[in-house]
Amino acid sequence: MSTLKAVRGTRDLLPPETQLWNRVEATARAVFSRYGFGEIRTPIFEATELFARGVGEETDIVSKEMYTWEDRARAASEKAQSLTLRPENTAGVVRAYIEHKLGDTGNLQKLFYIGPQFRRERPQRGRYRQFWQIGVEVLGPVSSGAESPIRDAEILEMLASLLDELGIRNWQLDLNSVGSSTDRPRYIAALREALAPVKHLMCEDNQRRAETNPLRVLDSKDPNDQELINSLPKIADFLDEASTAHFAQVRAALDACGVPYTVNPRLVRGLDYYTRTTFEFTVPDGSGLGTQNALLGGGRYDGLSEMLGGPKAPGIGFAIGEDRLILTLQAQALETTPTKLDAYIAPLGIGQNAAALALARELRREGLSVEVGDGSFRMKKSFEAADKVARHIVLLGEDEVATGVLTVKTFATGEQVKVDRTLLRSHLLIPSASKQVESKANEA
Ligand code: AMP
Repeated sequence: MSTLKAVRGTRDLLPPETQLWNRVEATARAVFSRYGFGEIRTPIFEATELFARGVGEETDIVSKEMYTWEDRARAASEKAQSLTLRPENTAGVVRAYIEHKLGDTGNLQKLFYIGPQFRRERPQRGRYRQFWQIGVEVLGPVSSGAESPIRDAEILEMLASLLDELGIRNWQLDLNSVGSSTDRPRYIAALREALAPVKHLMCEDNQRRAETNPLRVLDSKDPNDQELINSLPKIADFLDEASTAHFAQVRAALDACGVPYTVNPRLVRGLDYYTRTTFEFTVPDGSGLGTQNALLGGGRYDGLSEMLGGPKAPGIGFAIGEDRLILTLQAQALETTPTKLDAYIAPLGIGQNAAALALARELRREGLSVEVGDGSFRMKKSFEAADKVARHIVLLGEDEVATGVLTVKTFATGEQVKVDRTLLRSHLLIPSASKQVESKANEA
């Protein structure tokens, strides 16, 4: 029989790597709560129409990457429906905002999510068919200040703090404004005009994009086309007064906070709903991401709620590619040693198995992390198993059970001592060898 494997483009996340995932998520949650964000969890599948309308029929995501199926009716009272695994979470969050009338509170909604997304892309390093995003959406009625450039600057400053706190080094923030929904068509018309006489000189992909979606030409990495692309009109010259002022205020607030950025006129991003501020954080080559060097992307989407049939609710958000964040942290070697358990309890005979589990229960209730061996193990095997997963081994033989005095070895120092049960917890929590060396050095 052939063996079954995880589907192409999906993967299992296993310990100890999942420790790093948990640390990243815990740090993100802690940072988001300092900025007043609350968690939202939306369904993993939604009506296909949500993405068709919210993300845009013409985008790669909707036109070729979605996992869509016809969900059959199970009863005469039900209708068959086209459903889709969410390829991104902004549309779902805005749908929930509309459905639960969150705008009626009059308050600015500051929401975050952490969860899997699905796109049928060509799998490669840093690009998967099921991948995780950690994202944020800030939206609300105009009266809540949702349109204010301070909202844009605040989430960019928050991202800078989060990446620093996680230990991501050398990130770069690229920033642009794609203007309002009236600026953009004027710019696209100018792009088409400028592309018309030169597009035949470009690669096949760009020739096609020049016809179907000229903004996408700006994303092109084709080395031969770069010079032509750099000479195309810039969106900055097509922004109306309000968009220009908005962008200037975002930059001024970032300058005041000391968050570094580069204005990149070619950053237009693939999704239809973006207006005004767009941004991307990248890491340099050699950071473990190969060609997929975008850690996260986001921008403002002032018209999205109305596109989905909701009230006016300007907003801004971002989505971090969590898989890519993890790859970067691993490549930057900030998290290579998994943390060890406090103790491994080794019963010295089958007769001590029950007592070992009882001792483990007590220690775990006292807040320690504990693994339990098996009384059939030889002593050597117990020590080897313990050394792999724990900082100490606690030996539990007949004598130890009878007297309540245990033998404890600390692997980092090689020290082996007898410890009374009443002192066991504090003994197991003594700092690691490196810290002891440090404090001795301080004394000297
Ligand atoms: P987007 O929703 O396309 O703006 O993407 C936001 C971020 O999600 C990107 O910057 C990537 O870090 C990440 N991302 C997008 N697609 C994938 C994928 N197929 N695999 C892994 N990460 C992805």
